[in-house]
Amino acid sequence: MNHNLYACLRQGFPADLQQTAIETDQGLSYSWSDLERGSAMLANWLESLSLPPASRIAVQVEKSVEVLMLYLACLRRGHVFLPLNPAYQQSEISYFVANAEPALVVCTPANFGWVSKIAFQAGTRYVVTLDEQRGGSLLERAAHHSDVHTPVVSKPDDLAAIIYTSGTTGRSKGAMLSHANLLSNAQVLKDYWGWQSGDVLIQALPVFHVHGLFVAIHGALLNGSQMLWHSRFDAQRVLADMPRATVLMGVPTFYTRLLALPGLNTQVCAHMRLFISGSAPMLVDTFESWQKRTGHTVLERYGMSETVMLTSNPFNSDARFGGASQRLGGSVGFPLPGVQLRIAGDNGELLGSGKVGSIQVKGPNVFGGYWRMPEKNAQEFTADGYFITGDMGMVDAQGYVRIVGRSKDLIISGGLNVYPAEIEDALNNLPGVAESAVVGVPHADFGETGFAFVLARPGFELEPAQLLAALKSKLANFKVPKQCQVVNELPRNAMGKVQKNLLREIAGKLGSGSN
Ligand code: AMP
Repeated sequence: MNHNLYACLRQGFPADLQQTAIETDQGLSYSWSDLERGSAMLANWLESLSLPPASRIAVQVEKSVEVLMLYLACLRRGHVFLPLNPAYQQSEISYFVANAEPALVVCTPANFGWVSKIAFQAGTRYVVTLDEQRGGSLLERAAHHSDVHTPVVSKPDDLAAIIYTSGTTGRSKGAMLSHANLLSNAQVLKDYWGWQSGDVLIQALPVFHVHGLFVAIHGALLNGSQMLWHSRFDAQRVLADMPRATVLMGVPTFYTRLLALPGLNTQVCAHMRLFISGSAPMLVDTFESWQKRTGHTVLERYGMSETVMLTSNPFNSDARFGGASQRLGGSVGFPLPGVQLRIAGDNGELLGSGKVGSIQVKGPNVFGGYWRMPEKNAQEFTADGYFITGDMGMVDAQGYVRIVGRSKDLIISGGLNVYPAEIEDALNNLPGVAESAVVGVPHADFGETGFAFVLARPGFELEPAQLLAALKSKLANFKVPKQCQVVNELPRNAMGKVQKNLLREIAGKLGSGSN
């Protein structure tokens, strides 16, 4: 059997390839046949370069349907797709190129000068360009090739992609994902989320990350579902597309921005069937506001670059709960079928329900290791083959998984563990607080203490000293941050994750001067 991911996704395409597969916000329409033929031409061009089978193809371009075709072409040819955030600068690209040694680099025409210099110096054989408007040398070259291509035969463990982790602590690591990792996860999610015929997905996520590229796009391709393709997230455009869509996948920021629009109501969401959130924690307040405003319950799930999706709230009402809908705010649901998830203590001992510890996972979706980092692989997998996710969490009595933060964000104050999520929760429940983020800063006496960054709700004036005083009546004293700063926004990366490394730097600079 051929485990080639493209060949397997292709089986989900509708029988009539002339149907629309993708409609873009630029007014373009692509049929399933266009996807098949476009990716075939690119695959044939790749073939003409005679690159060794598992060559890495590094791609740093803006979002376009043509990048998706290039991804599919890499799968067809058995090359390894290596997407890079277009926001990365020269020093970052130098690192990725030196680390991954791609045979081919695809960049924007605007960046060709510096990218090609870095790439050729590192031994890359080809550098071509692609812009958002179908311009650049990549498509010119592919245009001369046949639009018929038979995917190569792939083994389950053959590499399909390398996704570099966002590297918020230390250097970015290349997570190696195989054809089988990606396919098994896509198949599980197709069933678990009840993808059905007639589904239409709003695709407003970036395509250099697991969420947009694998979870969203594989879902739509495997189900033969049309995508409404947004080149970037714009809440107003998403709202305008809802009456003809059924599924939205987004990061929590999508939902908070949509909630800020007066036009969001039950009528505009009447055609929608499923709202999914992930990549960062959704505030319970957002979850509840969404329910009130739209009548829909967001389905939150949890995953990461190294594992694709791990857990999900139930799509259907669950027999365990007498058939009632059991999507729970503040929880990421249950381990997906095939995923084994456990919680371990500081010495690797397994913890029972309700106890916070390190989340470890195993399953067909879990990556094979980090590219050329044997020492990291030795550290981050247990002797019995579980991947240590780096997230702290617990499984409650009913089996729901809750994330309390990254282990690296854990604050150890006076020898006691303080979980930022618990403090943030308490802060978020204070009147006038919209959101908060707590990080650890060095402290001469306690080793570390918390530093809280707090965002006010519109129309509220917050006083750091009062916030800390209010926390003291709710939490044990050792958990209460020693310092607090009211801010206008929290720094976030492209996936809506609060960048705690930046906050730690800011907190370090602010030092003991503030409250
Ligand atoms: P990435 O590899 O960029 O996808 O980041 C993965 C990390 O995002 C995970 O290890 C979690 O820390 C975080 N994450 C993803 N989904 C969720 C979620 N639903 N709730 C809380 N954290 C999440």
